[in-house]
Amino acid sequence: MQCKRLRSLARDWYQKVKEDALAPARMMELIYRHIEHCPVCKVDPDLPEELEKIREFIRAPEISPSKEE
Ligand SMILES: [Zn+2]
Repeated sequence: MQCKRLRSLARDWYQKVKEDALAPARMMELIYRHIEHCPVCKVDPDLPEELEKIREFIRAPEISPSKEE
């Protein structure tokens, strides 16, 4: 993870997941939303693999990128 911003956001979100203030699936959504708008994350080649690890770690269901809004 090259993006410092995402690193700090992920830490905050993970804290909320642990406190049951945020659903794991929602955390993944927030991460993907950040990546969409972040030039650093977009070109980070290791990010997909790291996201998969995070997803497994917080036990979020697999998300297929769909447009719900
Ligand atoms: Zn980023």
